[in-house]
Amino acid sequence: MARAKKENKETTFSKESILDVIRNYSNDTIYFKDKDSRFIWNSRAHAAQFGIEDPEKMVGKSDFDLFPKDFATRSRREELEIMETREPLILNTERLEKPDGSVVWYSSSKYPLFDKDNNVVGTWGISRNITQIKMVEEELSRTNEKLKKLSQIDDLTGLYNRRYFYEIIENQASQYDRRVREQKEKNPKNTFSLISLDIDYFKQINDVYGHNKGDDVLRLVAGILTAQSRKSDMVFRIGGDEFMMLLPDTPLAGARVQAERIRAALSSSPIMLSEKEDAVRLTASMGVACYADTKDLSKLIRTADERLYTSKNLGRNRLT
Ligand code: GH3
Ligand code: MG
Repeated sequence: MARAKKENKETTFSKESILDVIRNYSNDTIYFKDKDSRFIWNSRAHAAQFGIEDPEKMVGKSDFDLFPKDFATRSRREELEIMETREPLILNTERLEKPDGSVVWYSSSKYPLFDKDNNVVGTWGISRNITQIKMVEEELSRTNEKLKKLSQIDDLTGLYNRRYFYEIIENQASQYDRRVREQKEKNPKNTFSLISLDIDYFKQINDVYGHNKGDDVLRLVAGILTAQSRKSDMVFRIGGDEFMMLLPDTPLAGARVQAERIRAALSSSPIMLSEKEDAVRLTASMGVACYADTKDLSKLIRTADERLYTSKNLGRNRLT
């Protein structure tokens, strides 16, 4: 009987010792504050954060003694609101810039502190250092950003790809539609144009010089198109030997001038594909269309493509 009692005593935990375990061993920081936001009880981890070994030494201090002023002010404001509304603030993400410039992130929950009669007598809270998780999150978001960029790029040429073309052109069209709705005076530049381009007799290059040389030519054409474009223009490889250029703020006449410049640049850049043979003269056919004339996206793309095929039928190396 006496033995049983002794065993029971050894395995029983008093409420005080439970609190001590939390205070001494919790890795999360735990604190209780009075109505003036001064500490009345702190966990060891909380005190250690400020280089204070004995948590009792924290009693009476406030965030203003320990944190940068803007952090302490924000924290005090939150606590006033918690005491006023009697509502907790759950899993709030806090950013703390340390004097040495390093940044620490916390996930913290703060609660109103009630006495036995349910009066608010302060606040209490738990914070967890989530800097590590934040860093992983940021790395992940950078990776996602990179992946997104990659998903917009054509592997072979490094130009934008077909998928991105459709995304961007929809944006352009809705931007333009909005501007037209809002504009008071008509501005002829308030539109965009498309140049659809297809290399002439490209199959022959593959047939005569091989697919790898064909790829080189596609990259070369991509380089010429980019070099001939303005900064705001966007060049896409839609597939095979077919390219699209999107010219923001450009009416049809301006786009035709640009297309002619590209045609001239291509046809005057002979390409050496083999040491044994003469340089190859490359040409392309183009179709130019302007959004203001169609006011409809699929019609715009169709018009540019139809004009491209007109150029092919009229003998190639030209624009329509
Ligand atoms: P056209 O003047 O009528 O345009 O004649 P074309 O010979 O250029 O014919 P078309 O534009 O219809 O054919 C494009 C060719 O491009 C067909 C295909 O063999 C080739 N091609 C498509 N994708 C690639 C690629 O990624 N690399 C290479 N090297 N060739 C490709
Ligand atoms: Mg072709």
